[in-house]
Amino acid sequence: HIYGPDRVNSAGTNLHINSQIEPFMQNVQQYLDNQWHAKPIIDGKEITTNEEAVFCPYDNTHQIGTVHKVSEELALEALTIAHKNFIAWDMTPVEQRAQILEKIADVFEENEAELIALCSRDGGKTMQDGIDEVREAVDFCRYYANNARKDFGQEITLPGPTGESNHLYLQGRGVFACISPWNFPLAIFTGQVVAALVAGNTVLAKPADQTTLVAYRAVQLMHQAGVPTSVLQFVPCRGSTFGKVVLSDIRIAGVAFTGSTSTAQTINRTLATRDGMLSPLIAETGGQNAMIVDSSALPEQVVADVIQSAFTSAGQRCSALRVLYVQEDVADRILEVLSGAMQELKLGDPTDLSTDVGPVIDAVAREELAGHVEQLRATGNLIAETPMPAGLEKGCFLAPTAFFINHINDLTQEWFGPILHVIKYKSKELDQVIDQINGYGFGLTLGIHSRNESTATYIDKRARVGNVYINRNMIGATVGVQPFGGQGLSGTGPKAGGPFYLHRFATEHTRTNNT
Ligand code: GLU
Repeated sequence: HIYGPDRVNSAGTNLHINSQIEPFMQNVQQYLDNQWHAKPIIDGKEITTNEEAVFCPYDNTHQIGTVHKVSEELALEALTIAHKNFIAWDMTPVEQRAQILEKIADVFEENEAELIALCSRDGGKTMQDGIDEVREAVDFCRYYANNARKDFGQEITLPGPTGESNHLYLQGRGVFACISPWNFPLAIFTGQVVAALVAGNTVLAKPADQTTLVAYRAVQLMHQAGVPTSVLQFVPCRGSTFGKVVLSDIRIAGVAFTGSTSTAQTINRTLATRDGMLSPLIAETGGQNAMIVDSSALPEQVVADVIQSAFTSAGQRCSALRVLYVQEDVADRILEVLSGAMQELKLGDPTDLSTDVGPVIDAVAREELAGHVEQLRATGNLIAETPMPAGLEKGCFLAPTAFFINHINDLTQEWFGPILHVIKYKSKELDQVIDQINGYGFGLTLGIHSRNESTATYIDKRARVGNVYINRNMIGATVGVQPFGGQGLSGTGPKAGGPFYLHRFATEHTRTNNT
C-alpha cells in the first residue's frame, strides 16, 4: 500500500487573513445564542428522558441547552439494534461506506459555523481550536474513507501450492463502543465513530458528559449525510452506566476509547471478565509529556513552542507539555523570555479572537487544578503566571502558571490544565533525564529542542513515546501526517490518523477454495 498524498487535508478558515475574519465571525455569531437539546438517538428516533441543564464553561450563568441521557434499558435496546444490523452493514460494499464518510466531511464543512459555535459554547474552545476541530474531524473522514478503500476494497491473493485458491480480506468485528473525551468533542468523537463504521462495524457512541451537545449535533449530521440510523446509535449516559450495562455485555466486539488511563484500565478489566468474546480495546490515554531543551537550542523559538505546547487549549490536550527539562546553562535566559511571554498571554472569552487561553472544562476541573497550583505556590517555586483579567468570575478560568519542581516523580498525576513544571538538568545528566521520563510510565509525546542533530537523534531513539517533535511545538498532530497515539500508560495504539488504525477495528478472514 502507498499511503501517499492521494488526498489533501482541509484548509479551514485562516484567521491570519484579514478578509476571512469578518465573514467567519459573523457566521459563528449567528449560532452563539442557540439552545441545543441533546437526546439519545436510537434507531433514528430521538428519545426524551430526564432533562439536565447544560451551562457554558466560560459563563456559568448562561444555559446553552439540555441533555437527555439513556436509561440502562435504553442503552441495551440500542445495543440490540446495533447488534441486529451488523452483518448487513458489514456486507455493504466498502465503496458505499467510504462515500458516506466523504459526505459527512462535506456536511460538516457546510455546518462549520454552528459546529465551531458549539465547540466553544459546550467545550470552551477558542475560535482557532474550533476551526481545528472541524478540520480534523473532516480530515479523519476523508482519510479513513481512502484507507478503507485500500484495506477493505480488495482481497489479498495468497499462494495456492496445493491447487486451492487462498484469499485474505478484512471484515468488521461487530458492535463497537466508541467512548470519546470532552477535550476534542468533535474531532476525536468523529474519528472513532467513522473509523469503526467504515470498517464495517455498527456503533454505540457514548460522548463525554461535558460535551454531549457537540456529539449530538455531529450524529445528527452523520445521519443526514447517509449513515443509516440502524448502524449508529447515540447513547449519552454516565460512564459508570455504560460500563455496567454495555461494556459488560458479550455482544460488544470492540471498544475505542480516549480518556484517562484509569478508565482505560477499568474498561480492560470489564472486557476481560466477560464470559464471551475476546474483544480489543483501542485506547488513547494521557501523558506526562516532557520537552528536553539543551544549550544549543534557540531561546526565542523554544519559548514560542513551549507556550504553544503547554497552554494552547488551556493545556487540555493529551499531547500538551507538562514537564520542561532545560539544560542549566541556558535555563535563566529561556525562563526569562518565557516569563515575559506568559505576561502577554490573554486569558478570556474564547469567542474573542484576541484570546489565547480560554476556560478549563468545568468547575470540578478548575478546583482540582487550582488546588495543585496552590500546593506548588506554597513551595515558593513560581517562575511566572499569566495575569488574570477582571470580569472572568463567571467562568472556569485558570491562569497559566510555571513552577520549578525537582523531579518528574513529584507529580502524582497528569494535571490536565495550563500548568507547566520546569526542571533544570546538567549536560551530563541527559541519560538520566530520558530514563526518568521513560520510567514515569506514560509514553505519549516528547519535545526536543536542540540544534545538535546527533543529540536529537539519540533522545528520539532512547525515548519510549508515541510522538516525538524536534525543534517545534508538540501538539496538533495532523491526520495522515503525524499519526497520533502513545504507548505504556498512554495507550494501546494503533495510532489515530495513521495507516494501521482501521486494522484494529477489523478482523482478518481467510478463504480457501478447492476449485
Ligand atoms: N491529537 C491531539 C494533538 O496532537 C491530542 C489529542 C488528545 O488530547 O487526546 O494535540
